[in-house]
Amino acid sequence: MTIAVFLDRDGTMNVEKGYIRNVDDLELIPGVAQAIKKLNDAGILAIMTTNQTGAARGFYDVAHILALNSRVAELLKQQADAHLDAVFYCPHLSKGTVEEFAVECGCRKPEPGMIKEAVQQFPQIDLSRSYVLGDKASDVAFGYNAGCQSVLLKTGYGERVLAGKYQVLEQQPHFICDDLPQAVDLILSRTGACV
Ligand SMILES: [Mg+2]
Ligand SMILES: [Zn+2]
Repeated sequence: MTIAVFLDRDGTMNVEKGYIRNVDDLELIPGVAQAIKKLNDAGILAIMTTNQTGAARGFYDVAHILALNSRVAELLKQQADAHLDAVFYCPHLSKGTVEEFAVECGCRKPEPGMIKEAVQQFPQIDLSRSYVLGDKASDVAFGYNAGCQSVLLKTGYGERVLAGKYQVLEQQPHFICDDLPQAVDLILSRTGACV
């Protein structure tokens, strides 16, 4: 069985800047590329799972979401020769203004759809030993709903969530870490892999 780390994108991998309209404005949080490389080297699956409502809100099209995801992959490669094993995104928002995406779906976090899809692609994943990393209460709930360990990061919206100023934490995260690199070191120490 394989461990997977499900990674939120904005505020987790890249610096939270709201809706990023210019691909060049996307920047990785320091140390993220090197941390993903550690997961790659340890044989742990690094899988991005991200809600992206920009298309449903009419801010930009799906091609732009894909371009931003590609930019993440490009920076990971450039900075540390790191890679993501898979990328899943939910473009839906039931209250969205663009009809095509204004639907109730099973893949918008905290619904566990994206992790279910990942398990179809990688049936060897052991969810109970896998982790969800994110900066919002909805990421914590996503982890619980999928049967994974939830790690709340203090980057992005994380500090505000912990202060009770953004969203409501229905369940306490299994772990709280300063940032993604610290969470990866924690995961590697718990799995007995070399850091
Ligand atoms: Mg986020
Ligand atoms: Zn969806």
